[in-house]
Amino acid sequence: NQATVVITGASSGVGLQAARALAQKGWYVVMACRDLAKAEQAAQSLGMSPDSYKILPIDLGSLASVKQFVADFRSLGRSLDALVCNAAIYMPLIKEPLWSPEGYELTVATNHLGHFYLCNVMLEDMKRSSYPDRRMVILGTVTHNPDELGGKIPPRPDLGNLEGFEQGFKDPITMIDGKKFEPVKAYKDSKVCNVLTMRELHRRYHESTGITFTSLYPGCVATTALFRNHYPLFQKIFPIFQKYITGGFVTEELSGDRVAMVVADPEYKQSGVYWSWGNRQKKDRKSFVQKVSPQASDDQKAQKMWDLSAKLVGLA
Ligand code: NDP
Repeated sequence: NQATVVITGASSGVGLQAARALAQKGWYVVMACRDLAKAEQAAQSLGMSPDSYKILPIDLGSLASVKQFVADFRSLGRSLDALVCNAAIYMPLIKEPLWSPEGYELTVATNHLGHFYLCNVMLEDMKRSSYPDRRMVILGTVTHNPDELGGKIPPRPDLGNLEGFEQGFKDPITMIDGKKFEPVKAYKDSKVCNVLTMRELHRRYHESTGITFTSLYPGCVATTALFRNHYPLFQKIFPIFQKYITGGFVTEELSGDRVAMVVADPEYKQSGVYWSWGNRQKKDRKSFVQKVSPQASDDQKAQKMWDLSAKLVGLA
């Protein structure tokens, strides 16, 4: 019986390459994407066999759309054996916040709240699967962690005491800590929430369900569209800088292979951990369990983040 994985944001970059790699490993891939034509073209351009994948619409920034996606997935009649939360936006240059249909700041709504809701609802689907090695994987990033080389560039992520979430996270509130809007920090904050969500899923559900919950830093994939909203000069220089100065550069293809390993390979069946291949890439470098930032390993913060996020997405 062919195992089924859902990957969000599989129309480009890391998610697309993860779809390709998992299909090559024999998985059936449900590509959850907001631009169906782009996703189809992307899958074809990598030579993915048409019977190895299905593209379904989702807009992670809209809770109504995530809900519809779950209904669409269920109507396929497949079991859910793995889920990869990969989609993300990064809007470093905007001066004013953008808003989701439900009225939340769009970066946190897309990267965190949409996935938080998806994980909670699809946990039920995964519980019903009889696949022996079910996994839920959420993409993290080194920039969540100011203690690591790649995470030192300001602004630092800081959820504060989640004052912004506590106050309902709607206009005029734009940041989780309730402070002034800062789009780069919003991205980093959302990725801290991704890691906290993974750890809290593990704490709440690993023992009772046997599901493996993990996160990973695939390396600096400096060529992806994640940087499309940055200055053109940055887009040109960043990959060169990462390749020749920091040594952090990873190809999109390798990043996808890494995600696929964390989803499917027996060595990665360890719940509650965050995998990394380090900041500097060396040939055939082995992965290891990386310590997450002090903020992302704060259990009290994780619980508070969980409770407030559940309220914001209408699950509590
Ligand atoms: P890309 O921009 O190439 O891919 C992001 C994907 O998310 C695209 O498929 C995009 O769709 C999709 N997406 C964005 N917004 C939405 C939405 N509202 N609804 C549905 N899909 C959406 O970036 P990367 O591949 O680089 O990033 C993927 C993940 O990897 C992210 O979680 C990122 O934080 C993480 N990561 C990336 C690193 C890097 O160096 N690039 C390093 C560490 C982590 P569309 O094609 O329609 O735009």
